[in-house]
Amino acid sequence: MKIAVLGAGAMGSVYGARLLASGADVTLLDVNEDHIAAVRENGLQVALDDQTLHLNIPIQRPEEFAGPVDLILLFTKTFHTEAALKSVQPLLKTTPVMSLQNGIGNVERLAQLTSMDRIIIGTTMTPADMIAPGKVASHGAATTQFYAADGQHRPILDEIARTLCAAGIEASLDANIQAAIWHKAAFNCAVNGLCALSDGTPGSVGHSAYGRALAVQVAQEVVNVAHASGVAADFDVVRGTMQHAFDNHHFHEPSMLQDRKAGRRTEIDALNGAVAAMGARLNVSVNANMLIMQLVHLFEDTHTWRNARATTHSRQPEQDANIS
Ligand code: NAD
Repeated sequence: MKIAVLGAGAMGSVYGARLLASGADVTLLDVNEDHIAAVRENGLQVALDDQTLHLNIPIQRPEEFAGPVDLILLFTKTFHTEAALKSVQPLLKTTPVMSLQNGIGNVERLAQLTSMDRIIIGTTMTPADMIAPGKVASHGAATTQFYAADGQHRPILDEIARTLCAAGIEASLDANIQAAIWHKAAFNCAVNGLCALSDGTPGSVGHSAYGRALAVQVAQEVVNVAHASGVAADFDVVRGTMQHAFDNHHFHEPSMLQDRKAGRRTEIDALNGAVAAMGARLNVSVNANMLIMQLVHLFEDTHTWRNARATTHSRQPEQDANIS
């Protein structure tokens, strides 16, 4: 398959590298100039459990890419979906787009810019970290599920599954994909949100009676919203995934915590924020998700405010002293 990976950060680079190494024709598309320069100069380095891949892989800015490709694999953060898709708009007229991004509302975001019958939607437990420009890592076995957003089976779905499996990415079709997406979202809302707010990890959240109780409350709210929106999510599946993370991912820092600590924007609006908004619309109690969304945004705003103030302070100390 000819595949363009749109958003070649941690996840996009890991998927792109594995696909290229197995014989697929892959181009990475990204806007991070440091990453682009590093990959062009030194190749892409991907640390996996059993090997480290060093690959020469094409990488360029999306607006410079003409295609054609069989598939666009979208791996930007959710708040960059629109800009990224707009930058490859000519390709969208014919090319299917697959999103394995976290969160709720990905189909709706894609459907604003492409046709429902070309949207493929899914979820993955694959972990990935950006170590440095040109260097990523992914450790641990994981599964990926996906399906057509309109529920219609098409041959390209089987072709994608075969291509991913050949690349060592355990992938399968799941006609009930919305339930899988909500299960992952419930897990992310509970565990990522609480880790981000407590400077914690799944191990520390699971160790705390408060952490466990809050995680259950958050996840149960998400499942209740799924039910109210017609998705048959199963709370026991989410509980099992959370317990597995509490027991096994003791020191893993979820990306929301990493982003919060680094002062980067988080995906909170596609997770607890989306659940809170839907719950409010559907008359489902979402107090815990609402509070987590508000507190994570408070962290983001505090960081922005401190930075702006530090800049002002360094440029106009006497004026700032007068104001305060
Ligand atoms: P990331 O920040 O490492 O990578 C996103 C990349 O998108 C960056 O390299 C960024 O430069 C690029 N980008 C931003 N705007 C762009 C644009 N307009 N055009 C092209 N590229 C653009 O994020 P990630 O960790 O790889 O996560 C990507 C998605 O996968 C998220 O939705 C995340 O929730 C999901 N996910 C991540 C993991 C994980 O372990 N990292 C696991 C499962 C799902």
